[in-house]
Amino acid sequence: MKRLVILGGGESGAGAARLGKKLGYEVFLSDKGKLADKYKEVLEELGVEYEEGQHTETKIFTADIVVKSPGIPDKLPMIVGLRERGIEVISEIEFAGRHTDAKMYCITGSNGKTTTTLLLYHILKEAGYDVGLAGNVGNSLAAQVADNLHRVYVVELSSFQLDGMFRFRCDTAILTNITPDHLDRYDYKFENYARSKFRILNNMRAEDLFIYGYDCDVVRERVEQENIVPKAAGFTYSADNRLNAYMDGNTVIARWGERTFCIDKKEITIQGRHNVYNAMAAILAALKAGVSDANLRKGLTTFPQVEHRLETVEVIEGVTYINDSKATNVDSTWYALDSMHAPVVWIAGGTDKGNDYSVLFDLVREKVKLLICMGVDNKKLIDSFSPICEVVDTHSLEDTMKVASTRAVSGDVVLLSPCCASFDLFKNYENRGELFKEKVRELKEFCD
Ligand code: ADP
Repeated sequence: MKRLVILGGGESGAGAARLGKKLGYEVFLSDKGKLADKYKEVLEELGVEYEEGQHTETKIFTADIVVKSPGIPDKLPMIVGLRERGIEVISEIEFAGRHTDAKMYCITGSNGKTTTTLLLYHILKEAGYDVGLAGNVGNSLAAQVADNLHRVYVVELSSFQLDGMFRFRCDTAILTNITPDHLDRYDYKFENYARSKFRILNNMRAEDLFIYGYDCDVVRERVEQENIVPKAAGFTYSADNRLNAYMDGNTVIARWGERTFCIDKKEITIQGRHNVYNAMAAILAALKAGVSDANLRKGLTTFPQVEHRLETVEVIEGVTYINDSKATNVDSTWYALDSMHAPVVWIAGGTDKGNDYSVLFDLVREKVKLLICMGVDNKKLIDSFSPICEVVDTHSLEDTMKVASTRAVSGDVVLLSPCCASFDLFKNYENRGELFKEKVRELKEFCD
C-alpha cells in the first residue's frame, strides 16, 4: 500500500485525506499547530492516523507522496529533505487534479481573486451548471473530487498553491493582475513572485483559454514576450477594441468567438473600476463555457455583495458606511478610493507592509475630506497624508467610530479601507470588518 503524508490539517489537508483514503492510500496527517475539532472528527471518521503540535520526521520521510499545505514554505528543511530523497511534494489542488477529469476554471492574481472566483461560480450556478467552488474559497477540491461531486470547478489559486502544482491543467485560467505581495516567500524578488503566478499556464493546451488583465503592465509585458500556448483573451478598462473585453462609454463589451455580450457597468451589482475588471474576466470565462446572454445578465445583476470587499453596511442619516477591510495593500485601497463619488471619511491604518502611499495622493486630494488613522503606530500614515488632507490619530475602533460619526454629514461616505494588515489591533481582516460592521449597526440602532 502506498503511503500518503499530508502536512497541514486545515480544509485542504482534511480534503486530501478523504481523497487519499478513497484511492486506497495509507494516510498520515501531521500538523505543527493544533487541529480544529471539525477536522479531527473528519480524520477519525476516515480512520486516518494524525499528529498535532509536531512533525515526526521518521513518519514523514517514509512517504511515497506528500501533500503540503500552501502555508508551509518550500524552504523549510523538512520539505527540502523530502525533495532531496526524491519524494514528490505537491499541493492539494495538484493531488485532486490528478484524479478527476472535471473542467477546471482557475483564477489567480494579486487582487481580485476571491471576487472573480465567486462571481464566475455564481454565474455558472445560476445558469444551471453542475459546478463546485474550491481553492482558497469554498470547500476542499480534493474532498469534492473524492465524492465525484461536480463536472466543473471554479478554483481560486494563490501563488503558494501554484508553487505546488506540476501536472495540473486549467481549461480556462484567469490572471487578474500582479502587484508586489508576499515577497518574503520569494527571496524578496518580484520576478520570482510573478513567475509563480504564471505557473497557472503550465500544461494548458491550444484549445484552452487564458484570460488576462491587459492594463497591468507586468502581466501584459509577459504575455507579449512569452510564447503562450492557449488562446489568450485580454481585458481592458479602455476603449481599445482589439482586446476581447473593453469599454464603450459606460458599456462593458466582451467578445468571444462569434459572440458579443454587452452590459452597462451600472447594472453589475459590484461597483468600481476593479470590479469591472473582475466582471470582464468572469464574463469571458462564462462565454467560453457557453453561458447564454440572458443567464450571463442574470448572474451579473444578482451577484450578492462579497463580505469585507467594498461592502455597503448601512446608510445612517444619509451617510453610507462601507466595509473594505480586505484592502490590506495600497493597490486595493487605490481602487476603493477610485470608485468613490461622495466626500470620503477614510479609515486606514494597521500593520504597514513597507507601503508606498504616494500613489494614493491624487485620489486623496480629490476625494478625502478626513483621514482617520486607526492603528497602534500611525506615524507613517500621518507623515504621508497630513500635507494633503485633515488627519486624525486614533488607536481604537471605538474612537474611530466616534470621530467618523460626528464628522460625516449626509451625502458622505465612511470608508474602512485600511491598506494595511490588521494584526496590530485585530485578529485578522475578517475580525476587523466584523467589528466595524457591529459598530455601524449599533450606531444605526442608536440613531433610529
Ligand atoms: P484576493 O482574493 O485576490 O485578495 P479580493 O477579491 O478578496 O481579492 O479583493 C481584495 C481587495 O482588493 C478588496 O479590498 C477589493 O475591493 C480589492 N480588489 C478586488 N478586485 C480587485 C482588482 N481587480 N484589482 C485591484 N483591487 C481589487
